[in-house]
Amino acid sequence: MSVTSDVAVIGAGIIGLLTAYQLSRQGHSVTVYETGRPGYGQSAGQSRIFRHAHDDPRLIRLAVRAREQWREWSDDIGVTTVSDDGALALGDTAGRRLPLLRDAGVAAESLDSDAVADVLPLLGAYEGAAVFDPGGGSIHTRAVISALTDRLTDSLVGEQVIVLHRDGDGAVVRTPTTRGSHGTVVICAGRGTAALARGAGITVPVLLGAHVRVSFSVRDGVNRLPTLQDGSGHFGATGVYAAAYPDRSGYGLGLSEHVDAHDDGAIDDGSRLGGLADAAVGYVDSALPGLDPTPREIVHCWVTTLPWGDDGMAIWREGPVVVVAGHNLFKHAPVIGEALAQTVTSGAVPYDFTPDQRLGAASTEHAGVNANEYRSIT
Ligand SMILES: Cc1cc2nc3c(=O)[nH]c(=O)nc-3n(C[C@H](O)[C@H](O)[C@H](O)COP(=O)(O)OP(=O)(O)OC[C@H]3O[C@@H](n4cnc5c(N)ncnc54)[C@H](O)[C@@H]3O)c2cc1C
Repeated sequence: MSVTSDVAVIGAGIIGLLTAYQLSRQGHSVTVYETGRPGYGQSAGQSRIFRHAHDDPRLIRLAVRAREQWREWSDDIGVTTVSDDGALALGDTAGRRLPLLRDAGVAAESLDSDAVADVLPLLGAYEGAAVFDPGGGSIHTRAVISALTDRLTDSLVGEQVIVLHRDGDGAVVRTPTTRGSHGTVVICAGRGTAALARGAGITVPVLLGAHVRVSFSVRDGVNRLPTLQDGSGHFGATGVYAAAYPDRSGYGLGLSEHVDAHDDGAIDDGSRLGGLADAAVGYVDSALPGLDPTPREIVHCWVTTLPWGDDGMAIWREGPVVVVAGHNLFKHAPVIGEALAQTVTSGAVPYDFTPDQRLGAASTEHAGVNANEYRSIT
């Protein structure tokens, strides 16, 4: 089979789907190549945290824009994309990030222990720094992925891209049974990105790891369930994150650590993933009496991190090939999709996204911010 279109997007995770959607709304013909089920790579699972808080003020500003776009998009497709339940962060880092949030116009506030118990009654008694961001919330990942997939059905080629190469001013994409001819190719293939990019002459310094997240049932119904980041150590573990199921019946929770993998995906000690799952159960036991500590669902995922930080992200472009990589991309997906679409149409990567800008690097300006406290997945 052969296909021809203005733009090929490789990977139907949240980034590829949103990029393809934005380009097709601008009138470009788009082909989306996906080797598996759309949205079941790093974008898998019931929910993600939307938070404004980051160490890099540029990411806070981009989150403000992304939140607005998620809202507009909820109206557009008629489903809630991000809950209105807010984002709760515990620990000193949360307090130190507060002035950065206020500088960006985010209406976050410090909470005392009683107020913490009020916004998250599932939590055990807590004493310490706490910040609540009412504009944060849980992203309803499945609703978003399925709405996008429905809109792009006619553009999807359900096959693995084996290779892409330049051809004149454009590029050719080859899958087991398809030859695609495209003006531009956007690689957003998650764990497959670095290899495809390398074949096209672009080196992307992705570090590969594996992660586990466990979901637990809420014991009694709640009418608000904010996301949680706990860097306090008050309950033992640090770097814990949790996001709510859309119906608030469950909480997907993990420790921010992941297990390092080699470039080819080999993991030396796979049993460490089991240890991280057990630690998630242990945290629920000690910190969240409002949850049933029996695991309800489990998600194992690859994570792709750039060397300058766990929130790092960047876009590369060489001729007709555009590549995106990073971690914790879900919340920013609308603005990343917009930046990728702009790269395709203008031929230039928007300033903050060029690799030399190290977008998402932990700031050195804000002394005392402990990047490791919130290392990772949120
Ligand atoms: C458990 C977990 C929790 C997280 N929590 C948060 C959070 O709370 N907030 C947040 O903002 N972010 C979070 N993240 C990160 C976020 O989910 C990811 O950064 C985001 O989903 C990445 O999306 P993507 O589209 O780039 O990649 P993916 O979703 O991995 O999509 C890439 C797609 O490319 C396809 N593909 C790969 N190779 C090929 C090929 N050769 N040919 C065709 N198709 C190919 C794959 O099958 C896949 O579907 C979390 C990640 C994990 C794993």
